[in-house]
Amino acid sequence: MVPELPEVEALAGYLRQRAVGRRVDRLEIAAISALKTYDPAPTAVTGRAVTDARRHGKFLDVVFDGGLHLVVHLARAGWLHYREAFASTVPLRPGKGPIALRVRLDDGSGFDLTEAGTQKKLAAYLVTDPQAVPGVAKLGPDALAADLVTFAGALRSRRGQVKGALTDQAVLAGVGNAYSDEILHAAKLSPFALTNRLTDEQMATLHAAARRVLGDAVTRSLGQRAAELKGEKRSGLKVHARTGLPCPVCGDTVRQVSFADSDLQYCPTCQTGGKPLADRRLSRLVR
Ligand SMILES: [Zn+2]
Repeated sequence: MVPELPEVEALAGYLRQRAVGRRVDRLEIAAISALKTYDPAPTAVTGRAVTDARRHGKFLDVVFDGGLHLVVHLARAGWLHYREAFASTVPLRPGKGPIALRVRLDDGSGFDLTEAGTQKKLAAYLVTDPQAVPGVAKLGPDALAADLVTFAGALRSRRGQVKGALTDQAVLAGVGNAYSDEILHAAKLSPFALTNRLTDEQMATLHAAARRVLGDAVTRSLGQRAAELKGEKRSGLKVHARTGLPCPVCGDTVRQVSFADSDLQYCPTCQTGGKPLADRRLSRLVR
């Protein structure tokens, strides 16, 4: 599962509890391509204390004293594993393993940023200002923090299908494929509904659904150990990744629409008046 706002929020919360106040012994880079910046150098964090951990959309921001930030986008298969101790003090060597970066702290603990699979998309930036990270600079308002006026204004600024608007980080920050399916299900809206045709009442329902779905997911994830967060996310989902299973609200069968590189799930009874949406890929095959 791709980490989205709730998982990154929980990782930041875990780091605030566990890492703040600890000093960095060493930042080690195993996947050279994962670190997108070269100035300041990785050695610049040595000896600095972790002062905070924050979230910008789906980006994690580890803050060090003196105003240095390690900003990380976990991409599709990235994760942060907190280690109470490392098996070896030997520095990581560049290689093809799952570990991209390691931060060793002065109490012997620390964390690994890992990425499964062969497609390496995890991106880390060592910067003095998080806004220097292009993906952070273009983020829209935060999906969890936005009030109704901000939320509605952001979504209506992008004409088109509401599923696309919810997942566009420049429109609204933090929501990806999984939680947009969940938010639309909770709001009883079709993923293909058009943003400029949503009534004020539908927009208010969508806003409330976003806050509830994301807030509940953050609550479930917080307090969990970072290593267990992924399983926790899966257990809370009602439609996403549940094609063919019964909708927990109405009992109808959850359906799927497939695209070239992703798919979405929805419940026809809850969201589309009982009518299945056309699966473009399938209808093209049939034709
Ligand atoms: Zn349903």
